[in-house]
Amino acid sequence: MERLGVYRDPIYIAHETGSFHPESPQRLEVIYSMLEDNGVRRLYEQCSMRKAELHEITLIHSASHFERVAATAGVPQSYLDADTQTSEDSFDAALYAAGAVLDGIDLVISGKMRNIFALVRPPGHHAERDRAMGFCLFNSIAIGAQYAIKKHALERVLIVDWDLHHGNGTQHSFYDDQRVLYFSTHQYPFYPGSGDFQETGTGIGRGFSVNVPLGMGCGDNDFYTIFKEVLEPIADLYRPQLVLVSAGFDTHFDDPLGGMKMTPDGYAALAGLVQQIANRHAEGRLLLTLEGGYSLSGLRDSVRAVIEQLAGKHQVEEGAAEGTGHDRSTDRIIETVAQMQREFWSCF
Ligand SMILES: [Zn+2]
Repeated sequence: MERLGVYRDPIYIAHETGSFHPESPQRLEVIYSMLEDNGVRRLYEQCSMRKAELHEITLIHSASHFERVAATAGVPQSYLDADTQTSEDSFDAALYAAGAVLDGIDLVISGKMRNIFALVRPPGHHAERDRAMGFCLFNSIAIGAQYAIKKHALERVLIVDWDLHHGNGTQHSFYDDQRVLYFSTHQYPFYPGSGDFQETGTGIGRGFSVNVPLGMGCGDNDFYTIFKEVLEPIADLYRPQLVLVSAGFDTHFDDPLGGMKMTPDGYAALAGLVQQIANRHAEGRLLLTLEGGYSLSGLRDSVRAVIEQLAGKHQVEEGAAEGTGHDRSTDRIIETVAQMQREFWSCF
């Protein structure tokens, strides 16, 4: 069995966002309760978390952004953005959320763990250098990628973002940098507005942002086909030394914010494909961190399926996801991505 480490802690539940906010503490309560189920408990080891330090947060963010978030500590209710609310413990939760990603990267690079799933809040991929945005305070995955480059001298980090939304903050963090390849599937046009085909990077980073904007209604086969025909060939050329995943589950068919049709088996298939990329190129080093996902049952079942997949228990039949047809419009989207990326990647 693969060694799978999980980060979980009450601090991530203590980040409160106000009544009726979709990014609620209940999201982790249902996941943490599922983690205690017979059959799941033996699939993972719990890792001890740490806080990210100021000098680590500022690998991506400005010191003034850090100060603004720090100023919310101990305050019952503050707004950093129209839909990004904080409570007394939110600053701590955000430091520990980034810290889990950093600690997890140390564990997979040292070989102590093979895969990591950081089951944390708040999410991160919308957070920009100088501002909180879209329920996100600090961009944990971007901080993690930069940390891997600086601390572990990595030269090629792959970030896969399968959240419903485009990870604008992550893309902007590495838009002119070839050391991080950012791949994102997302509903489009949609919040936050970025992520069109022609956003491929700038300067030395050209070709290292790969955006796959999707209309509503995409399901398991559409996503799997895109991962197989776009992500996998590019990743095989890029040969990442570490694979990070912004694992959002708001593409689930039951999600109240999204218009997609993914199922738990579909997420397991995507996780399996990403795991294979990590196994082929990165000595298996794979870390996922939780981003969105607002159907409580959909989130719980999907996270479970991914954990089972990572631990080698969930057997998605080979071909099950690719077999029964995807939408014709998905082929046209893949063709458009290929046209945009052709000058950078010889697979197209
Ligand atoms: Zn999202």
